[in-house]
Amino acid sequence: MSGPRVLSVASEVFPLIKTGGLADVAGALPGALAPLGVAVRTLVPGYPPIMDGLAGAKIVHRWPQFFGGPATLISAEVAGLALLILDAPHLYRRAGGPYGDAAGKDWPDNAERFAALAFAAAEVGDGALDDYRADVVHAHDWQAALVPVYLRFARSGRAVGKLPATILTVHNLAFQGQFPATLLGKLRLPADAFTIDGVEYYGHIGFLKGGLALADHITTVSPTYAREIQGAEMGMGLEGLLRHRSHALTGILNGIDADVWNPATDPHLATRYDGSRIDARRLNKTAIRRHFGLNDDESGPLVAVVSRLTWQKGMDLLLAALPRLLAEGGQLALLGAGDAALQSEFAAAATRNPGRVGVVFGYHEGLSHLLQGGADIILVPSRFEPCGLTQLYGLRYGAVPVVARVGGLADTIIDANDAAMGAGVATGFQFTPVTVDALEDALARAARAYRNNAIWRSLQERGMATDVSWGRPVRQYAELYHALADRP
Ligand code: ADP
Repeated sequence: MSGPRVLSVASEVFPLIKTGGLADVAGALPGALAPLGVAVRTLVPGYPPIMDGLAGAKIVHRWPQFFGGPATLISAEVAGLALLILDAPHLYRRAGGPYGDAAGKDWPDNAERFAALAFAAAEVGDGALDDYRADVVHAHDWQAALVPVYLRFARSGRAVGKLPATILTVHNLAFQGQFPATLLGKLRLPADAFTIDGVEYYGHIGFLKGGLALADHITTVSPTYAREIQGAEMGMGLEGLLRHRSHALTGILNGIDADVWNPATDPHLATRYDGSRIDARRLNKTAIRRHFGLNDDESGPLVAVVSRLTWQKGMDLLLAALPRLLAEGGQLALLGAGDAALQSEFAAAATRNPGRVGVVFGYHEGLSHLLQGGADIILVPSRFEPCGLTQLYGLRYGAVPVVARVGGLADTIIDANDAAMGAGVATGFQFTPVTVDALEDALARAARAYRNNAIWRSLQERGMATDVSWGRPVRQYAELYHALADRP
């Protein structure tokens, strides 16, 4: 069967380059879609980690002058991904991260860097390669959001065959890519693209805004977030446009890589286990306590947090609720990086509560697995959360999620209220509104449940039996690709 050909355009892709959930999704979708007959090629910038060690690569296109320097398009098979790599050394070959330098400062030419990525995708979509046509171009986040804009306003004039359909997926509406209007020419955007129906956004060029206005379809990473972003509270200024486009907006939940995140085979755990050996988690808990300097007190739950330390993630709420957690006999093991002020407050909390609060700052993939494999609770008190992955890992590992009822957290956890407990469907604890009081109540409810072995075990078993794989989401993406590709 020959299914739709999809060109996925992303600024990061696991396992080659990753700063967040976007990379996981862009890296996992192609492999999960292949069995459904959907062939995905992934266009990424040629950052050093991607260019290093390229073998069997083939140049498939050249631009002598491309956003300030020469560029080539390279086709290569890497880590099971069919990549198209935009090699533009003046834009991407530099030490540091994909978006900024080692100190975390954004690259000053990010507008050009990601306009170039989208422009290349539009050219490929418009028939620049002799032997490749895409039925659908799937752009991820603001970095790729100009694809539909270029296809509308800056076509090369090649105009052979049918233009591909476009999808824009929003992984986090907080990042919108806003730049001065003076860049219009430099970004190869004609004046008529700078309107309310194009990239114009309060006098600036809005990458995400332009994509949201012009993509044939918009997706975001959970049904609840798809609704929330159409309201003023979470719409971040784009709610009006999103409401206007609501007929073309779908929420599709993220899945997780069930091989990388499998407690039965996970090399980062002290002890591996499955749903029939949940007791074995105790050894992982001991390992966590050693690592975080926590004592062996069993009077309450061991609560884990694996998170960026930011306002979005509600880390200030957790600091305020900490005394209540400790009063319930609980302990906290926090792994995180981010905001310096939050970091020092957590460090101070650990100093004040030796043996009861432990913190590790930095990014440690292995330790994040151990926390899921041994903690009693994984806590996610986000103010907004497009999908969230850590609560899904928690389900799979038997760490009971305590989450704010927002976005993907609302869609993936079933609160242990009386009705859900009676029906035997509960998997965790939710709280709303996202306040210190409500968080404290949820932690107290969870601590009470923790002291009842039968109830706690039932929550863990149900969580571990929940399907959090890509199976269902990938069928939804495939249906969407088919529907768009088949349009006249
Ligand atoms: P976001 O993408 O907004 O940061 P998600 O929950 O979607 O939030 O994804 C976060 C991912 O990053 C998860 O895979 C989580 O385990 C991982 N992560 C976050 N902070 C750390 C850390 N300090 N060390 C290791 N992994 C982390």
